[in-house]
Amino acid sequence: MKVYRNHSLKDHNTFGMDVRCAQFVVMEHPDEREAMSAAHLFEAPFYILGGGSNILFTRPYEGTIIHPDFKGIEVMEDSERHQLIRVATGEEWDNVIDYCVRHNLYGLENLVGIPGRAGSAPVQNIGAYGVEVKDCIDRVEGFLTDTLQPFALSAEQCQFGYRDSIFKHELKGKSLITHVWFRLSKEEHYTLTYKALANEITVQDLSLETVTQCILRIRNSKLPDIRKIGCAGSFFKNPVVPENQYHDLLTRFPDLVSYPAADGMVKLAAGQLIEKAGWKGKRIGDAGVYPLQALVIVNYGGASPEEICQVFQQVILDVEELFNIRLTPEVNIL
Ligand SMILES: Cc1cc2nc3c(=O)[nH]c(=O)nc-3n(C[C@H](O)[C@H](O)[C@H](O)COP(=O)(O)OP(=O)(O)OC[C@H]3O[C@@H](n4cnc5c(N)ncnc54)[C@H](O)[C@@H]3O)c2cc1C
Repeated sequence: MKVYRNHSLKDHNTFGMDVRCAQFVVMEHPDEREAMSAAHLFEAPFYILGGGSNILFTRPYEGTIIHPDFKGIEVMEDSERHQLIRVATGEEWDNVIDYCVRHNLYGLENLVGIPGRAGSAPVQNIGAYGVEVKDCIDRVEGFLTDTLQPFALSAEQCQFGYRDSIFKHELKGKSLITHVWFRLSKEEHYTLTYKALANEITVQDLSLETVTQCILRIRNSKLPDIRKIGCAGSFFKNPVVPENQYHDLLTRFPDLVSYPAADGMVKLAAGQLIEKAGWKGKRIGDAGVYPLQALVIVNYGGASPEEICQVFQQVILDVEELFNIRLTPEVNIL
């Protein structure tokens, strides 16, 4: 492991917030957990950070940031129909997709281009273009940070939901994911339910390469390039409302986009609500709402954490005033 004191987090969060932490620890191997525990590194306050693409640091972090950085993809089972792989937490997510494309493994391709690390994928059950990572997760392996007791949770035990899992609730701040196991199909199949994707791709052209390239084109046309403009992707979750509330809203806003959700509820598009509240493209200093996708809050370069907070808090208030719906951040705010 490597330990750095009073370390800048600027290069460790895609929002580009220039804050420092008291201690930054790079964990280079899962076996280091004993030594880390002996050095009291798992004693509060500590925070586990992967690629920092789903986080907003609003102030200096007065504790230890633990950055698991071990990598690797191992084949655990290889049958005629499936391959089971075990991916170390520090592996870049797009390397996992690249592995699947190179080995003709189906299931995760729609999740190409999502920044971050493999170990973070189950935490919020990443999803895009009609696919959620839970559908390919076989198990999540890790240990409890207080007792160092290892765990291996099946997909069901992970309690996956929309941008949600046990790692955001019971196991939040108590567990370190070391590996994620994915069961991938060798049988050619695609999920093309997302309209923009279905419109762009022809059946004769279908392959893992064409699907991933098409998704990257769509993503690049809507989302900022994080090498130039800081952000953490969708800042808010899409709100899920009861059907009667949705019908009331339709009388005032007949063009509301909606999707069916579990238990007869209706999921609305947070980006559309933000746009209707007048925030698309609006700025406060160097912070603002991205003009091409209102769900994304951006740092145009020199935004302070206060400015980003001002923008997202005002968005919440304005959307609530117009729709009586309180948006919840998808991003972790620290
Ligand atoms: C431009 C852009 C586009 C995006 N598009 C999408 C999208 O389409 N769909 C989507 O779902 N998300 C999207 N995201 C959000 C983000 O990329 C994902 O949530 C990603 O999985 C975060 O990975 P990370 O390694 O950067 O996580 P981090 O931000 O470092 O951490 C995220 C959470 O996981 C926890 N965590 C990380 N590693 C571990 C570990 N080893 N053990 C336990 N807990 C851990 C952290 O404590 C934190 O709570 C986007 C972000 C950006 C910037």
